[in-house]
Amino acid sequence: MTRVTLIKGDGIGPEISESVVKIMKSAGADIEWDIQTAGLDVVEKEGTPLPDRVINSIKQNKVALKAPITTPIGKGFRSVNVQLRKALELYANIRPCKNIPTIKTKFDNVDIVVVRENTEDLYAGIEEKIDDNTAHSIKIITRDASIRIAKYAFDYAVKYDRKEVCVVTKANICKLSDGLFLECAREVAKEYPQVKFREILVDNCCMQLVQNPSQFDVLLLPNLYGDIVSDLTAGLIGGLGVAKSANIGKDCAIFEAVHGSAPDIQGQDKANPMALLLSGVEMLKYIGQSDAAKKIEKALFATLNSGVRTADIGGSAKCSEFTDEIVKNIEKV
Ligand code: ATP
Repeated sequence: MTRVTLIKGDGIGPEISESVVKIMKSAGADIEWDIQTAGLDVVEKEGTPLPDRVINSIKQNKVALKAPITTPIGKGFRSVNVQLRKALELYANIRPCKNIPTIKTKFDNVDIVVVRENTEDLYAGIEEKIDDNTAHSIKIITRDASIRIAKYAFDYAVKYDRKEVCVVTKANICKLSDGLFLECAREVAKEYPQVKFREILVDNCCMQLVQNPSQFDVLLLPNLYGDIVSDLTAGLIGGLGVAKSANIGKDCAIFEAVHGSAPDIQGQDKANPMALLLSGVEMLKYIGQSDAAKKIEKALFATLNSGVRTADIGGSAKCSEFTDEIVKNIEKV
């Protein structure tokens, strides 16, 4: 039995967490969930959106599955997601984007892994209001963090037999900050002669991605570009409802969907639980429960194949109907 922290989040978070827990249980995953609440509801009761008990639970269990938590726009508390990544030093955000069988998209040959630096850049949250008409935001890039993430990208490429790492920056404009990120990637690349190394500017990268995505393999990006480009790559394989991710550190890992809390569809039983489910499948593999992981994948693809799917990927099933169909297919596997 593995103890795993479960953060159910808010918005569509509770609906999709419930779905994933149900599916994992039916697949025989041997997990004891340590349920922790965080976010807006918690602020009112505990004075912070991220109480120490949540961090301590993840530190103790070393692994967590996290549903989305809303980040207030333009005001309010700092993103819980960003705080968690910082507090647990989850320096690598991995967002694999590969075509999913039966989900028809514009391109059939997408197989990209976004490796995003997860602890600094404009996400450091260092902002100041100069006067009513001026605000500054500081972009932090350090050598240590840039080398660490570049090594992660190249190690990943070696481990999973990927051919190329492409570093994505705007080093022609942000000469010092993105320039340092690029310089570190170049240095690390020299230690991995077996992996091809490529450099591209982020604007060109976006254009190329929507025209010819199969040219890309592993993308290495600083935090902000990584966030934006990975939504784009999610779009290439069917949208945010199907895009998985992992936040990896030296001691802990948090698995979560790429998407946010989708308040526009909250409480309507419309959300697609697939992104969290596929992140959960990666978590099962990470904790050594590959049998349950494989069962879920098989049942999920059988479900999609039979035409049962949620509205965001062209179906009409509710979240609960889609979940029940996957459970039914697990029982048949
Ligand atoms: P954040 O900044 O927290 O990542 P966001 O502003 O990018 O959030 P999301 O919450 O990810 O926004 O939602 C973007 C759009 O995608 C919304 O229209 C939402 O309904 C849709 N969406 C996101 N997740 C899902 C899902 N699991 N199922 C169906 N639709 C989704």
